[in-house]
Amino acid sequence: MPKNVNITTVISILDLLAPHSCRGCGHLGEVLCDRCKNYILQGTPLIQPKSLPPHFPPIYSVGERSGLLDQLIHEYKYNSTRALASKLAELLDHRLPHLDGTVVIVPLPTSTAHIRERGFDHTLHLAKKFAKLRHYKVAPLLVRTKNTVQVGTDRKTRLKQADSAFAISDHAKINPATTYLLLDDVWTTGASMEAAVKKLRHAGAKDIKIALLAVSTLDD
Ligand SMILES: [Zn+2]
Repeated sequence: MPKNVNITTVISILDLLAPHSCRGCGHLGEVLCDRCKNYILQGTPLIQPKSLPPHFPPIYSVGERSGLLDQLIHEYKYNSTRALASKLAELLDHRLPHLDGTVVIVPLPTSTAHIRERGFDHTLHLAKKFAKLRHYKVAPLLVRTKNTVQVGTDRKTRLKQADSAFAISDHAKINPATTYLLLDDVWTTGASMEAAVKKLRHAGAKDIKIALLAVSTLDD
């Protein structure tokens, strides 16, 4: 293989040749076969990332951001392989405990620049797939106030940027009896999630939980 052909290009070509081959083992049929799905689920779910602020809501994640799980998330986000959303939703379904009462999934808002680039809002799309499996509702209660992508290097700057980047939607009606399940793909610094929790709490949400596809252990 020529050196300048990156893995994304290879995946794109494979996708054209065999759109329904398992990303883990190449087996024809589905984008993720049951064996590879179980392989991911055998890994340890990273329930709590490092350095959480006090009284932070419980966090559930499919696993660590590495190997096949990382590869699936990457392809889903950057190659816009929508077929992966159902499989990622199934993984979430396996990992998340049963939640009582009314549950509303609140996807973390994607920047419009990213939506334009990828052709769809990957977090919202995933939220809808997962909601269908669990009979939850989806409500994009958080909106972006400006289209800045996090660029700050230190934690304090990132938190400040994230805090001013989100707002509660004008039409949002927060019910204190509802469970709000904040959904994001990857936890890296946690700055966006911290800001999202703060905004929801400020708007009156009492029961917040967090669902993630993966937790990155590389960044602090
Ligand atoms: Zn497989």
